[in-house]
Amino acid sequence: MALNRTARQGRRRAAWLLALCCLLPALAGASPQLQQRLDALREDGRFVPERALQRLKDIEIEAFSAPLTLRAEYITQLSNAHMRLGQNDIALQLVEDLILDATRRHNDVALAKALLSKAYISFALSERRASHLFAFEAETIANRTGDLQLRVQATISAGQSWAEEGNFPAALAKLQTAVDLARQSDSPATLAAALNALTLLYTQMREYGKGFRVLDELLAVAGKLDSPGRLAQAKNTEYGLALDANQPQRGQRALLEALALERRLGARTMVATTLVNLSDSYLKQGDFQRALGYGNEALAAARLVRNDDVQATARLNIGQALIAMGRHEEGKQIVESGLAYYNLMDNKPDMQAVLLEYGMALEKAGDMKGAVTAYHRERKLSNQLFEQQRQKAVYELQEKYETEKKQRQIELLSRENQVKSAELDNRRLQQRVWWLLALVMALAAVIVGLLYRKVRHANVQLQEKNQELAHQSSRDPLTALYNRRHFQEFMRHHAVTVPAPGAYKDSDLVAAMFLLDVDHFKQINDRYGHAAGDLVLTTIAATLHEVLRETDMIVRWGGEEFLAFLPSVTRGSLDHIAARVLDGIGAQRVVYQGQAIQVHVSIGFAPYPLTPLGQPLSWERSVNLVDMALYLAKAHGRNRAYGVRGVQQMEGMTLEVVEQDLERAWRNGVVDLNVVPGPQNGLPRAAA
Ligand code: GH3
Ligand code: MG
Ligand code: MG
Repeated sequence: MALNRTARQGRRRAAWLLALCCLLPALAGASPQLQQRLDALREDGRFVPERALQRLKDIEIEAFSAPLTLRAEYITQLSNAHMRLGQNDIALQLVEDLILDATRRHNDVALAKALLSKAYISFALSERRASHLFAFEAETIANRTGDLQLRVQATISAGQSWAEEGNFPAALAKLQTAVDLARQSDSPATLAAALNALTLLYTQMREYGKGFRVLDELLAVAGKLDSPGRLAQAKNTEYGLALDANQPQRGQRALLEALALERRLGARTMVATTLVNLSDSYLKQGDFQRALGYGNEALAAARLVRNDDVQATARLNIGQALIAMGRHEEGKQIVESGLAYYNLMDNKPDMQAVLLEYGMALEKAGDMKGAVTAYHRERKLSNQLFEQQRQKAVYELQEKYETEKKQRQIELLSRENQVKSAELDNRRLQQRVWWLLALVMALAAVIVGLLYRKVRHANVQLQEKNQELAHQSSRDPLTALYNRRHFQEFMRHHAVTVPAPGAYKDSDLVAAMFLLDVDHFKQINDRYGHAAGDLVLTTIAATLHEVLRETDMIVRWGGEEFLAFLPSVTRGSLDHIAARVLDGIGAQRVVYQGQAIQVHVSIGFAPYPLTPLGQPLSWERSVNLVDMALYLAKAHGRNRAYGVRGVQQMEGMTLEVVEQDLERAWRNGVVDLNVVPGPQNGLPRAAA
């Protein structure tokens, strides 16, 4: 019972082992002696790990001091031997160290070998996925090297890994490549390994015709090899193919030939497996006696090599044979002990198949109750398996959903983040724009402020300049008195108050004009110089300011002529004012360069406005009349003032005639003049 599976397991292992044997490394620069011994060991000990291990240990010291490539071959052989003996920890440690070493030294050959060994160990530890990944990696690295045998080896492992993953097209492509490469390698052992793997794959794929064709070549190649181990492997492969192709007789013959070869070789594990397969084969043929015999032999052989798998399967076969032979209770007990192992290993699929066969055997033997029990157990297991698979499927679905959900969430988050960062960027940009704007505004404000200040300053300056200009345009630069133009302007706007007709009284408030001319000024200039003349002029200006009121307008009328316009004085005070001016100027002692200069002036004056013939006289004609009076003062000895008091109304006498000859008009009594004398010899009037 269940021998098919066990047999397949045995075949599977054997395939790995055979593949291992084909590892023929490139041993460039290695010790030829060590290399030969390793080659021999591989050939001698490939199916007898305990013997190989002993011999490998004998050359340990020499091997560990060999170059890396050769050392890698030694270490992988050592590791494989340990693994085949179930010492997976030691095997793994050796390989891990080698991986580190090979990686550090960038040695692809050593690294690929180490990774292949790791794949085998992972497989032995039932870590299938890890085993496959190591095999794929080993193939990639091996293909970087020029080591053809190593590449074939790695390609076979990759192909077998694909087959185990259920990807037969990939597996087929790899194994066909492996066969092609092996044909180029000139190594029949390597070719045998590749052909063996390809036959096993065709068996799995139920391509029996193709499988037998490849098998023929395999048997031919292996037959020429003088290697009982390889031929035994080929025979095992033939058994599996024949069994599945429904050729049990051929299968049994192959097994018997394999057994003989394995016994000759002393390959005890292989012997145990072949024995158990033989017992299965005879069970199926109904030869229960032989089935029992091979079963017992298998049990003993498996005990020797401590192979629990084979022991359990042997028990199942023995039990079935016993049941068939009528020894129900004994048989059932042994079957149960075999099942207990499967149970312990939690190998439900195999147990299910075993229970089915067990039930059929009991049914055949007439133990209906036992058969039903076995079928019930099988059903229960089947349900459990189904439930497990269902749960697994649900779990995988959930996991997929969760993963997709998480992925969606991540995408959502990253999109949100993008939006947020865009917003942030935008805000930052806005802030920058605002800052920039604020800066521009501040700068603009500063500039405007500066410009404003400048403009204001300019305005103030302009105002000052205008004032200065206005001052300059209305003043005489030498004496700072008003000039003639200003006076003209002033008089244009001056309102004239016309006195009431009738007799004038001294107490009448009137305006008045005084026109002054410096006496013999030319002589002063000539005698003392122009600068002295200027000094005289400024002194007269200052004196007029002193003598007259603040409200009186003093004008520089011409070169050495001054005009004073008094807006409000009593009519009777005009003579006094004239006398005060004459005295004030006459009293001044102008000293220039140590020389005293005596100055006098002549004055013509009149109240303003004069109203001859009842009409007020214009200011221009008034000035003209006053000028005439001044002329009289000059003509009558200078240093005196002539004041026009009034003009009488007379028949045939016009104002033009008066203006032409004031003296005649005075003498005719048309004009009333008054003479005010100046000071004598510069002395004040009181002293004179
Ligand atoms: P009169 O007594 O008849 O008035 O004789 P005068 O010499 O004063 O009269 P005249 O008109 O012959 O001379 C006036 C002189 O005044 C002529 C001119 O050179 C001088 N003069 C006019 N303006 C200025 C001035 O601003 N400074 C100076 N130093 N002399 C001036
Ligand atoms: Mg003059
Ligand atoms: Mg003069």
